[in-house]
Amino acid sequence: MNKDIATPSRTREILQKHGFSFKKSLGQNFLTEPNILNKIVATAEIDEHTNVIEVGPGIGALTEHLARAAHQVLAFEIDDRLIPVLADTLSPYDNIKVVHNDILKVDLMKETAYFDQAGPIKVVANLPYYITTPIMMHILESDLAVDELVVMMQREVADRISAKPGTKAYGSLSIAVQYYMEATTAFIVPKTVFIPQPNVDSAILRLVRRETPAVEVTNEKEFFKLTKSAFILRRKTLWNNLLNSYGKDEAKRAWLETSLQQAEIDPKRRGETLSLEEFARLSNALEANRQ
Ligand code: SAM
Repeated sequence: MNKDIATPSRTREILQKHGFSFKKSLGQNFLTEPNILNKIVATAEIDEHTNVIEVGPGIGALTEHLARAAHQVLAFEIDDRLIPVLADTLSPYDNIKVVHNDILKVDLMKETAYFDQAGPIKVVANLPYYITTPIMMHILESDLAVDELVVMMQREVADRISAKPGTKAYGSLSIAVQYYMEATTAFIVPKTVFIPQPNVDSAILRLVRRETPAVEVTNEKEFFKLTKSAFILRRKTLWNNLLNSYGKDEAKRAWLETSLQQAEIDPKRRGETLSLEEFARLSNALEANRQ
């Protein structure tokens, strides 16, 4: 087996060899601890049938661990300076394709034609923290049905995504993700295992696709609009937030009132107390009563 990329000394050697300097604006914090990488691969339950998508391979620390365990790895890296570095560090592996592109601009359906065998598709990544949420939503909303994501992010964002109703961290992001996926925080990663060190600790979030969405809604777009509206001002009641989003005229008030009644939801509650089921009930009532 090749010497791990992810040790502090090998990482420094590679950076020096290629004269690489970090770009903070691209969220570049490289992992330098093989044990963490082994734990990530174990959490994702990757085997020789798994096809893996990686976002932001950096110098390939996680990529090589994925390649050792998986069938194939498809990695998207935005920084052109890293492309020759990756060609060098990953040269011992023949089951990796590195695509130089912004993950937010790629058509995942098209790119995954690279996978030459059917098998579960999993996204495994140490995400660039400045765009964690857009990346997650881009993947979840793509036509490609990713089976599982095991992704590192700021601990605080992982907490928000996996939060339950009635907690401070619960919000429209929790609902947007939990609608499609079962979310759990797998483990916490201290900031000391990165070069350079980020300011905060990280967490590995594991998301497993549900067979069907968590709740049945008649109009997904409107359901997500409703959940966003309910949290615009967290301290306001559901009623106030709904009036602000949907309009305050008589007809709108009557529509909202009837729908809340039908869904058996007290308008004086705050959005953060409503479960996914309650949001779905309210969304379906709003749709049914729409004029
Ligand atoms: N996977 C490596 C590791 O664990 O050491 C690097 C992780 S680093 C936190 C994030 C990586 O994502 C960087 O290599 C950065 O250049 C890349 N990146 C940032 N924005 C990106 C984007 N929009 N699309 C693809 N890659 C991106």
